[in-house]
Amino acid sequence: MSTQPDLPTNARAGWLPRRLLVTRSSLAFEHGRAIAERAAALGVEVVALAGDRLATGLPDDPRAAYASAKATLAVVVAPPSKRRLQPIAPSADWRVDLAEGCPAHCSYCYLAGSLKGPPITRVYANLEEILDGIPAYLGQGTITSRSRDRAHEGTTFEASCYTDPLALEPLTASLSTAIAWFGRLQAPAQLRFTTKFADVRPLLSLDHQRRTRMRASINPRMFARFEGGTAPVARRLAALREMASAGYPIGLTIAPIIAAQGWRDAYGDLLADAAAMLGDIADDLTIELITHRFNTGSKAVLESWYPGSALDMTAANRTTKRTKFGTEKQVYDAPTMRALRDFFEERIAALLPAARILYFT
Ligand code: SF4
Repeated sequence: MSTQPDLPTNARAGWLPRRLLVTRSSLAFEHGRAIAERAAALGVEVVALAGDRLATGLPDDPRAAYASAKATLAVVVAPPSKRRLQPIAPSADWRVDLAEGCPAHCSYCYLAGSLKGPPITRVYANLEEILDGIPAYLGQGTITSRSRDRAHEGTTFEASCYTDPLALEPLTASLSTAIAWFGRLQAPAQLRFTTKFADVRPLLSLDHQRRTRMRASINPRMFARFEGGTAPVARRLAALREMASAGYPIGLTIAPIIAAQGWRDAYGDLLADAAAMLGDIADDLTIELITHRFNTGSKAVLESWYPGSALDMTAANRTTKRTKFGTEKQVYDAPTMRALRDFFEERIAALLPAARILYFT
């Protein structure tokens, strides 16, 4: 039985790659073939590769290679190692990847430094295998499942760790397929995704059974210049409202919180905008607060991708934090973190009193 949901009539509203690379193995999967067919129908150049190695054909010049990679989508098969799920604190019990990479150009992107090679987005053709692997993890969660405040969500699965799944939806339909799959599940579970995109039309009529929570990832207007290629924040908030009207639980991911000059006014305005858009329907609204951080690797990659970006990655207001994996990252120092936390807790209580803050990190 096909699990491919209908696409929106105007699929061009979202991002489309300039080039679609299709590996040989991915054509063995209905989902992979459907993506290739859709791309061809929409006028995207489809390159069928002879094997499974991504012969990228990128130019030598680093700037041109970056631009070309970001305009390329590859259909690949997720190997078993990638289908073994990992815990992902504090968002969810498990991380489930439908794709890897993102076509947008955010100068603080958390993917920089964690994904290897040129930033070609890779979408998985064996989506059905990925979803079929999920039942083994139900009831096995150790993050939100063990939290007194969140255990009622069931086992949680985060789909936005290595990609922005809504960005790829017009061509892939992977997110719709996953939402419909969770809707059919006879077990307490939640699929979670967060996005800086806004075309939610393919999701509105799905039988989601309230088992998917969409969060909009938002930042104040003064940081829009750091978020190239994404949807305007006002549209992301409007999309969230549409999703809530369609019965989905919703949330805000305020990330990354940047303590640049004027942050109080900027984030105050952002929360006021969110309250104006969602205040009357926010009976099940969650908020996740994630401060800006970077490490030496991600900083080097971002500086090569976005030379001249005004994003502050100096040592000012920073302290070094050691992760449980033994690596180091630069986070805001304790006084800055305290000021940010106090501000958000106060302002959210005043403007969105029904919202639940899930975490501040
Ligand atoms: Fe990275 Fe998210 Fe921006 Fe995509 S939308 S480039 S994943 S920060």
